[in-house]
Amino acid sequence: MIPIDVVKRVLTEALRTGGDLAELYVENQTTLDLRMDDSKLESATRGEDQGAGVRVFFGNLVTYAYTDSLDEASLINAARAAAAAAKGTSTRQVVDLSLRKSSLNFKIEKPFDSMSIAAKASLLSEADVAVRAHSPFIKQVGARYGEENRRVWVYNSDGLQVEDDRSFVEVRGMVTAQKGQVLQTAIGAFGGQLGLELLDHRDFIAEITKAADDAIQMLDARPAPAGEMTVVMCNGWGGVLFHEACGHQMEADFINKGQSAYAGKVGQKVANPIINAFDDGTIPGRRGSLRFDDDGTSSQRTQLIKDGILTDYMYDLVEARRINRASSTGNGRRESYRHLPMPRMTNTFIDAGPHDPEEIIRSTPKGIYVQQMAGGQAEISKGDFVFNATVAYLIEDGKLTTPIRGATMMGNGPKVLQEIDMVGTDLALDPGMGTCGKGQSARVSVGQPTVRIPLVMVGGTDESA
Ligand SMILES: [Zn+2]
Repeated sequence: MIPIDVVKRVLTEALRTGGDLAELYVENQTTLDLRMDDSKLESATRGEDQGAGVRVFFGNLVTYAYTDSLDEASLINAARAAAAAAKGTSTRQVVDLSLRKSSLNFKIEKPFDSMSIAAKASLLSEADVAVRAHSPFIKQVGARYGEENRRVWVYNSDGLQVEDDRSFVEVRGMVTAQKGQVLQTAIGAFGGQLGLELLDHRDFIAEITKAADDAIQMLDARPAPAGEMTVVMCNGWGGVLFHEACGHQMEADFINKGQSAYAGKVGQKVANPIINAFDDGTIPGRRGSLRFDDDGTSSQRTQLIKDGILTDYMYDLVEARRINRASSTGNGRRESYRHLPMPRMTNTFIDAGPHDPEEIIRSTPKGIYVQQMAGGQAEISKGDFVFNATVAYLIEDGKLTTPIRGATMMGNGPKVLQEIDMVGTDLALDPGMGTCGKGQSARVSVGQPTVRIPLVMVGGTDESA
């Protein structure tokens, strides 16, 4: 994108005051966003953004300057601004830059421009009509289509030159059902890092109708009981609990600052031996996947927990350098060229375990089964969490019985992880709509098999329980 001789001049300028590593990050992003509310197309937004940032490392000190113009003068100015933070001279040369190719094959079969905007909008209106016709209880329907293509280039003075091309598509439907005074909302959504072939693999009308059925079923739900009880969490999206309440604490910035319950715990038992957990940025089609991260490091599969023992953390370049680790784990991610990278999860999941998922329910005399969650919060450096179960059922004598609403689960991630006593064989990743917020937003995937937590504090609304 930027001629290589310009890249070299920018990196040379950035090193002039004594930096030991200089990096140029370039990004181009195009987006399309369609929103339908009350059966009307409310907005259709096309966006384009591009820019570049220059980062200079002086040991553990990092400086950064960015610009939204990609001409040589603007890039040199950004390099000077980043370099100005230190006053010295450098004899370091920019090593010859040769393009490194990724061995990962993330193929796009149907590019975004293979379908008109009108056809994408009618995908939403057809779903709207279908779901309203599905049941008289449907009160409100919202639908959204989003696509984004993000191309990034990373160059550094050690001779690194990589590029990544990331295409995301996402379709989301939100359905509210009403009966008397009771309103219930459920979401049907899917997405991924791929082209429009996603729409051939998944049926939006079927997903939004399923969400409608969930919302209608919850109209007759009874208030959730309160107190400590056994919770069985669904596979797939249920992994958001591990991501928020445990995963963040395995990110190396919290670890290196000593702010995490997992700091200094590599090699120690942090979970039941039936638990294995991974962060894997190499899975084709997943929202958190990367050929190269935003530091230019190849993406990888990192085992975080092996047979209940903590095995590693997730590093970006800065945190790997801070502890003189040979390499980063490829977890350096940034929201855009306006941001510095930091350690972030990619696709994070608890791996399949030994238990038949039906056996997990059968062997639970009393508890709740959580099928969908929303509105969760976690204090990410401590792992204290509060999650609201939007679709949940009572488990009585080993069977799913009454739907319940208003169940709020509270606890501490590292403690809950120690307590999980059953792990299903049914590993699934989420439907592909996860976005993580840690100061900056990043697309992620989460996942897990069905898991059982023997005792969780549930805040319910049933005073009689
Ligand atoms: Zn997160």
